[in-house]
Amino acid sequence: MKLSVPDYILSLKPYVAGKPLEELEREYGITDAVKLASNENPLGPSPLAINAIQQAVKDLHRYPNGGSYYLSERISNYFGIKKENIILGNGSDDIIAMLARVLLQRGDEAVLPRPSFLFYEIMIRSSGAIPVEVPLKDCLTDLSSMLERIGPKTRLIFLTNPHNPTGALIAKPAMDEFVREIPADLVLIIDEAYIEFVREPNCPRSIDYLDSGKIVVGLRTFSKAYGLAGLRIGYGLMPSFLADILNRIRQPFNVNSLAQAAAIAALDDEAFLQDTIELVSDEMNFIYTSLDDRGIEYLKSQANFLLIRVGKDANEVFENLLKQGVIVRSMTSYGYPDCIRVNVGLHDENVRMLEALDKVL
Ligand SMILES: *Cc1c(COP(=O)(O)O)cnc(C)c1O
Repeated sequence: MKLSVPDYILSLKPYVAGKPLEELEREYGITDAVKLASNENPLGPSPLAINAIQQAVKDLHRYPNGGSYYLSERISNYFGIKKENIILGNGSDDIIAMLARVLLQRGDEAVLPRPSFLFYEIMIRSSGAIPVEVPLKDCLTDLSSMLERIGPKTRLIFLTNPHNPTGALIAKPAMDEFVREIPADLVLIIDEAYIEFVREPNCPRSIDYLDSGKIVVGLRTFSKAYGLAGLRIGYGLMPSFLADILNRIRQPFNVNSLAQAAAIAALDDEAFLQDTIELVSDEMNFIYTSLDDRGIEYLKSQANFLLIRVGKDANEVFENLLKQGVIVRSMTSYGYPDCIRVNVGLHDENVRMLEALDKVL
């Protein structure tokens, strides 16, 4: 059948997510697989969030609070900003989709680093816009080249800090200068999905640029440090005039009621967040040392994952690790055909990953 679908939609390829644990276990007939592919929290969800979900279940026959009133209030207090600066989403992916929808039209351009989180490109192309990809330089975001690629058709710029998949940070002075230099009529998205894990003290935060006179959107998620990936909840911090525009196209109940309740509790659970950050930091150091001992190259990371150069075909290494019950991510589709990305797990999971790597390499 011939549907009238734009060619820029037909040419899209679906986003490929990390392989689910139960899928691997079913396919390979194993029971103790380890998933280190989607940068999830190895400690599970926050116990306070689990409790809040159990309380909220009895009201599931009601529609959620459409504006996420209490959660917005909680976040506004947390950052000392107005509720009008906050948009909640069904994951931060939802905010990215809304921004692309309202800001990009056919033929517009969006500037982003290459490689980047693959969903950015899908959303840019789905609006008929053109991704202008600026290669990383020595595995760092090349801000000066990105500035040079901004033209009359540019509407949107994507930065990820720390970057996915490298784990590298944009330094504060460099970010300050970039925000100063960009035109005032385009939108800079700073995706901070992993900002809670950053160990470098002088890290720029999108919130610092909310009143800069430039249109800066910070993206945050409960999927990583807060351990709520399955619930789908994230948010954007942005000038109120932009939030007002997004609210016009936002699905009325885009954030479900369990997610709202759990996110409030997760923000209250400072002990869980601290435990998560400490575990990731300690285990990241353990993985560094273990890779050093083996003479395997890797990139030091400010996030909860790292790139490892396996020196062989990454798709093959990925498949062979699967057979050992360890799920990682091949970086071939990101343009690093000899690298895998691995997130930090519990100590035993990291040991399993390293032992599996020993067998495979
Ligand atoms: C994981 C991740 C997200 C989070 O997406 P959610 O929709 O909030 O789960 C956003 N951006 C990047 C770069 C990520 O790696």
